[in-house]
Amino acid sequence: MTVSQTLNVETALAYIGFDLSDNVIVTGDSNIRDLCSEWTTQGTQNLFNSAVSTTFVRNIRAELHGVVHSLIASKSLITLYISASDLINTIPTLYTVIGDRAPLVIHAAVADPTDVGDVFAIRQTGAILLASNSVQEGHDIGLVAHSLAVKYKIPVVHLYDASAPALKFQKIQTADYKSGDFLANLKTEVDGYKKNDPISQVVDQLKSTLFLKPTAQSSIDYAQVSQSIGNQVGTFEYTGEGDASQILVALGTNPVSLADAVAKLAQTGQKVGVLRVRAYRPWSEEDFLAAVPSSVETITVVDTAHSLSTAWGPLFLDVAASFHSGKYQGKPPVLREGRVHIPAQGYTVEFVKSIIAQAANADQAVFNVGSPAVHTNGVHNGVIDFESTNEGPYIKILEQLFPDRASVANISSESSVYGKHGAAAPEANAEFGFGMHLVLVQNRARFANSVSEVLKASKSDDSISEELRKELGSWFQYRDDAEKSLKHGKAAISLLEKEHHQHATLEAIYEDRAFFSKPSRWVIGGDQLSYDVGNSGVHHVISSKEDINMLVLDTQPYSEKIAPTQQDRRKKDIGLYAMQYGSAYVASVAINSSYAQVVRAFMEADAYPGPSVVLAYAPKISKTGKGVSVPLAMLKETKIAVDSGYWPLYRWNPSLDAAGQEPFALDSEKVKREIVEFLDRENHLAYVLSSKPEVAAHISANAEKELKTAIENKVQSSYSQLLSSLNAQPLLVLYGSDGGNAEAVAKRLGSEAKQRGLRPRVMAADSFSVEDLPSEQSVVYVVSTAGQGEFPGNAKETWKALQSAGADLDLTKTRFAVLALGDRNYWPLPGDKHYFAKSGKDLDHKLETLGAGRLTPLGVGDDQDPDGLWTGVNAWRPILWQALGVDEVDVNVEPVLPSDDAIKESSNYLRGTIAEGLVDTSTGALAELDTKLSKFHGIYQQDDRDTREERARQGQEPAFSFMVRCRIPGGVVTPEQWIAVDQIADKWANGTIKITTRQTFQYHGIIKRGLKASIQDMNRALMDTIAACGDVNRNVLCNPNEHSSEVNAAVLKLARDWSEHMLPHTNAYHEIWLDKKLVATTQEESEPLYGKTYLPRKFKCAIAVPPNNDVDVFANDLGYIAIIEKGKIVGYNVTVGGGMGMTHGNKKTYPRLGDVLGFCTPEQAIDVGEKVVTVQRDYGDRTNRKHARLKYTIDDRGIEWFRKEVETRLGWTFPPARPYKFVSNGDRFGWVQESDGSWAFTMFIANGRVRDAPGSEEKTALKLLAELLVKEKAGEIRLTANQHLVVARIPPSLKPTIEGFLQKHKLHSEHHSAMRLNSMACVALPTCGLAMAESERYLPSLITKLDSILDSLGLRSDAISIRMTGCPNGCARPQIAEIGFVGKAPGTYNLYLGGGFSGTRLSKMYKESVGEPEILASLKPLLTRWSQERVVGEHFGDWVIRAGIVKETTAGMNFHD
Ligand code: SF4
Repeated sequence: MTVSQTLNVETALAYIGFDLSDNVIVTGDSNIRDLCSEWTTQGTQNLFNSAVSTTFVRNIRAELHGVVHSLIASKSLITLYISASDLINTIPTLYTVIGDRAPLVIHAAVADPTDVGDVFAIRQTGAILLASNSVQEGHDIGLVAHSLAVKYKIPVVHLYDASAPALKFQKIQTADYKSGDFLANLKTEVDGYKKNDPISQVVDQLKSTLFLKPTAQSSIDYAQVSQSIGNQVGTFEYTGEGDASQILVALGTNPVSLADAVAKLAQTGQKVGVLRVRAYRPWSEEDFLAAVPSSVETITVVDTAHSLSTAWGPLFLDVAASFHSGKYQGKPPVLREGRVHIPAQGYTVEFVKSIIAQAANADQAVFNVGSPAVHTNGVHNGVIDFESTNEGPYIKILEQLFPDRASVANISSESSVYGKHGAAAPEANAEFGFGMHLVLVQNRARFANSVSEVLKASKSDDSISEELRKELGSWFQYRDDAEKSLKHGKAAISLLEKEHHQHATLEAIYEDRAFFSKPSRWVIGGDQLSYDVGNSGVHHVISSKEDINMLVLDTQPYSEKIAPTQQDRRKKDIGLYAMQYGSAYVASVAINSSYAQVVRAFMEADAYPGPSVVLAYAPKISKTGKGVSVPLAMLKETKIAVDSGYWPLYRWNPSLDAAGQEPFALDSEKVKREIVEFLDRENHLAYVLSSKPEVAAHISANAEKELKTAIENKVQSSYSQLLSSLNAQPLLVLYGSDGGNAEAVAKRLGSEAKQRGLRPRVMAADSFSVEDLPSEQSVVYVVSTAGQGEFPGNAKETWKALQSAGADLDLTKTRFAVLALGDRNYWPLPGDKHYFAKSGKDLDHKLETLGAGRLTPLGVGDDQDPDGLWTGVNAWRPILWQALGVDEVDVNVEPVLPSDDAIKESSNYLRGTIAEGLVDTSTGALAELDTKLSKFHGIYQQDDRDTREERARQGQEPAFSFMVRCRIPGGVVTPEQWIAVDQIADKWANGTIKITTRQTFQYHGIIKRGLKASIQDMNRALMDTIAACGDVNRNVLCNPNEHSSEVNAAVLKLARDWSEHMLPHTNAYHEIWLDKKLVATTQEESEPLYGKTYLPRKFKCAIAVPPNNDVDVFANDLGYIAIIEKGKIVGYNVTVGGGMGMTHGNKKTYPRLGDVLGFCTPEQAIDVGEKVVTVQRDYGDRTNRKHARLKYTIDDRGIEWFRKEVETRLGWTFPPARPYKFVSNGDRFGWVQESDGSWAFTMFIANGRVRDAPGSEEKTALKLLAELLVKEKAGEIRLTANQHLVVARIPPSLKPTIEGFLQKHKLHSEHHSAMRLNSMACVALPTCGLAMAESERYLPSLITKLDSILDSLGLRSDAISIRMTGCPNGCARPQIAEIGFVGKAPGTYNLYLGGGFSGTRLSKMYKESVGEPEILASLKPLLTRWSQERVVGEHFGDWVIRAGIVKETTAGMNFHD
């Protein structure tokens, strides 16, 4: 709900910030400051009923960090009002707040809407950056900012328009954020934040050992947040013609007037539009591309940031990267960047016209419009003169950071330290600069001495005033502190104005008053400087111990250094050399890789009280490939140099060491792991000592010192080792991978190459530019095949570039090898056989045609081989190493994928190295082998596949997280447990709960460092995750719906007993996750039932109560069908050999329904199950996981053989099965009364995903319901195997209350079509690693489309089971649905028809590889015919067989016929 109010932007934001904060920080004179101060004085409270303080920070750089830090330590909600031009000074604060995972909102006023340069400076800190453009938007986005900050515990910077029009009062629609859901949600988040959060302790530990890296949030749900305030604000806003061909893209607070001018232009018939960026960080490529009209031909990024000193504006790079991401479907438009100087009257139609005209005619991507571009150092006409000023951007930053006191001794007024046209050699300049600084340092020391003398003398006489004496005294005390010396110096100077003539020394001091301020002294050196480290300027600077900073530039492009030289080595040694000196600050930076890191390093170097050496990469480009501009080549050079580890980004700050903190911070992701090894060693040693007090006690002080020295030596040698390895022979391994196989193989090749002494770089093919191939010595491609012989998504651009490559791509110096991966049976038709491994084959042929030298013959990995694709890979690898001349190297290569049984056997009963992996902070993943073992603990490692490519492009590892599945036999939990589940989802996971098709909960998005704590929280709620995945008996299904209370209790007991009976005996789970120590025992640990290798594959069990087959009993390895006589269970029919999983194109794999083995009594049930398991344990196929399920054991040997084998082990024979009948495998929704009089309500949960979404607060409602049940001390919650939920055991007296609650929260499901009520979808994308297509995120919208067909046919109430999975693994059992979809590729599914409505018949493939249009076109006529031709009660699945649409599938083995 919104109300109309008259406000200006400042007033609107003052209200919001004050209402939603504990502390408001103001930094300048403004109405906001006045308002907040007044409210604080009046004692006005915030919306959380607390008093709000208002703090005024005068000196942002000196005071802000401390103020924010102390407030965050007390978990305060902080709002900071600041000018956008001061944002650069918040960088250290932003990093700290991100590290602390704390909410902070910064409302930054953009007074001059023509310059947003400072915004770009903070874009890499990881903070969320939003921009608003009017009073209305200022209010709306201001609220969004607070909501996001609290929700994601992250700083949010909101840039708002503070120009004259926005400061005018006007009528806007304000959201009612002071009550209702918005406030309630905020309060919940705030409460969570303020409670002691153990994760902050983990973060503190991390901070003490490693540097903090910016943690950009990759997926921010703006839509959800903005909807909650009632005014919808999107991430991007497009205005203009729907079919515009010319689009302008702009960030900042000026685009409104730009939009107006464009709108006027459009009225004249021009096809133009404007895209305004509201959410700048995180940048959403999807949202951006979605906002661009498909008609666009040219996009011009309008850049008003006058201080830009880079070749390309950051916004332009974001736009360009979006189009190169592979997510854009059409023909990419021409991209231009217009650096505009807006005329005084703002954007006019004429001005916009001139931008568009220049964009059309410019022969360079960057052009200037308006007044001449502002000159920055080395920038002329907006384009950097790279020939002369590689250091230009670095110097510009120095000037910006230290505006009053930057002193660059050896920069000539001409332009460059390199001197133009043969000017003096740089090292000479550096020497000169150093000498000059030394003189000035000494002079300032003398000056300080004079001040000291005056102070001493003034003690005994009154020659100077008391005020001057005080200021001089303070200055002397703080003379090495830049801010304080400036402050006291200024005060002293103004007093000296009056007093200097009184005293000769005072006169001298006044004359030299320039020395009061502490300069930031810099010397700049070039390539030559570093070749002779020990005798160069570097040595002088370091050994002087003076507070002088040196900036050493490396200008040689990485690509020109294929054969590393001794000189290269020396150059990189500078860092180590300076670090070894012990007392110097050292940093290695690259402006084109991380601007923020450069700023940080400069600030730290300046603050460090001794010498500093900053190594800066600034490749000098003299020649570029065709069509590649110099600036672009420079960007690419830097990226490769940093990503490859040739130029690692790091900072070494000895003052941190003195303060007991880790002095070394590695800022390059790609090489982080290698360097962090040395920190690990250090930490490990410390750990050993702390865990062995008896050892520690005997270590004397001297011994400790020795130990420390030894560690330091080790540290240095590790680092040296790393640097040496960077000089090894390079090998580029590129992969094209959709499902992850090619990537895994490429990484394994990379890790083996490293052990063989090579310097490998492994990346997605599209992350590497084809134009740069000629500078690579050896390139290996590992390529999967997608669809009909197409290249995978992350290799498509590579293939396109190679296809269009001409003679100027000179590959004669490049040698290549291609490993083609595929599945020879994926396309079963003989005519399609040539698609097998087609991409790799095509690539191999193309590279040869282009003249590249061949390293090896084409390698082929075929999924159908005995060891899958590894059969081919293993045969090919030795040929590759031989070709590279490293086959003789003696390496201890990790065996390539040991068999799963070997992993299990050597895992020490499922321990592996999981515990060690959990404390390894250098990666968000577990070791590969541990990921197989963690499944036995209910944990699957996954990564966000939506962001995989983007992160790869940014040189980051995938966004790893874990799926954690509970073990809840029978799916029954208490209301208290539900509340715990809800809290765990919010605290540790992605805020949603997935009810799975195996009647349990599943969490997604838990990161490694929250894994253990989340499992401990589950343990506290009396739940565990043991055996929820892995080659063991999985969560046991049991009929959840009403029957009779007695029967329900009996089957639930069997489910729980069977689950308990089959639990692994190992103590590993308790040790790893619950910190329980192994109880000392003389007996060796054992697994009496499973043995060390557990089962060949997963094993599933379900218990059904006819006539309801709601657990799909026949889809399980083992099933019990309850036989009820006179209301009591007299026994069970036992079924064996069901299972859904199969592999596309591999007919040897198929889904199968269980066979009925015979009858047993309730007392015999567990023994029967145990014998079934042991037969499978002993006879299951352990050589091929695709053939390892019980269904294949039975089909290979025959059901009779199997029955006999079980009977032999039982010692008795099965009586015949008893009659039973199933009528449906769905749930029955709504209220039902059970036999004991209590009530149960079954509720529809779409695909089992419990979440809060705009317009549907299902998760909150269920939590409130659970709380109500706890209060009433009644009820239980049951999960169904169809992903729904039953609220059961409701006493009749409570039913009206619960019914009222259900109605209030809209939890009834009558409005859904019967098809939707019978639908089911697995998780699939983005988290499931096996998913080939969407499932849970897509099925609901497909059903909406099918619903309209059903409505038109009058079939809305006719139940049809419809199920979808993202891959043939079949988690949602689509193979027994009447309509089933199995994902094959993005947007493409195999369509199956004819499954039985009661889960007793498999379906048959109807159409292969179809997309939505074909699905709808296929189903509409069938549904129409069914509505006309069906006999009474005939289900759709039965009709399609009777009508001959598909053949009936009578057994798993004829599923593919
Ligand atoms: S069916 Fe496939 S895609 Fe879906 S969750 Fe299971 S494994 Fe993942």
